[in-house]
Amino acid sequence: MMAGATKLMQFPTRARQNLNLPATSHAAYFKEEMSSDIVRLGDIIHSAVDFLFPRRCLVCGKINPKSKYAHFCDDCAPEADILRGARCLRCSEIIGGNSAFNVATCPHCSDNPPFFDRSLVAGSFANALRQMVIELKYKGGTYLLSDISLLLKSVDTAQDFFENSVLVPVPLHFTRRLKRGYNQSAAICAAITKAFPNSNIRIAEILRRVRRTPTQTTLDKGHREKNVKDAFRVAGAKVSTPAIQKDARIIVVDDVMTSSATLSECARVLKISGFCRVDAFALARRL
Ligand SMILES: [Zn+2]
Ligand SMILES: [Zn+2]
Repeated sequence: MMAGATKLMQFPTRARQNLNLPATSHAAYFKEEMSSDIVRLGDIIHSAVDFLFPRRCLVCGKINPKSKYAHFCDDCAPEADILRGARCLRCSEIIGGNSAFNVATCPHCSDNPPFFDRSLVAGSFANALRQMVIELKYKGGTYLLSDISLLLKSVDTAQDFFENSVLVPVPLHFTRRLKRGYNQSAAICAAITKAFPNSNIRIAEILRRVRRTPTQTTLDKGHREKNVKDAFRVAGAKVSTPAIQKDARIIVVDDVMTSSATLSECARVLKISGFCRVDAFALARRL
């Protein structure tokens, strides 16, 4: 897409951020203490901003005031990217069509098993889901959290998967966290708890990234594993309130799963520190 068009599409969102107005998700996630009167006032202001700066679909640019998703038109709804078909329950690789059965372990996982026991991904890294991840990761896209919650509700097995779990976001190095202002994986954790409020889901940021690692996107699988080896440690598990029991079901949460090296390394250090049940979730999977 042309840079000019992208800029134009982002303008309403940027206008909201610059005016410090409650974008679609901000009131829900970061301003829960706001009184209902203030929330109502925010809704009115939000509607006025929608009138002045109509929201556009982040994929096709179409003006999109009244579709199911706040930032995607019905034609580009992220539900279209949800992964369907038989899959490996360990690594979430699609291994067959809708009529085939899921398998506990695929040939790849038999040869080189990840350290997490099971995984779930919402969809493929394409179209709306790709745009969600890019906005969240590089463009301050926390305003997408309500849309992410909506998407998660549409993933058939998601509620069962997250039931009674402790979500542990993949951490950023503190320098990157400072620069970005938030951790996108922690934001996805917030969207999960919003999607399933009665499922006994906790968030615990008990992992630390102890060294900066170059981006994984240009590396092959072997180099990805070396790149993240010993990059994380468990910290804060004891001071978490209430303390996390070692038999709690942990789900490590990331934005994108590619080779699963990062999620697997996080699971490895969690298991070394005594957590015996560690699963993994990513919003999108590169196929
Ligand atoms: Zn669209
Ligand atoms: Zn597998």
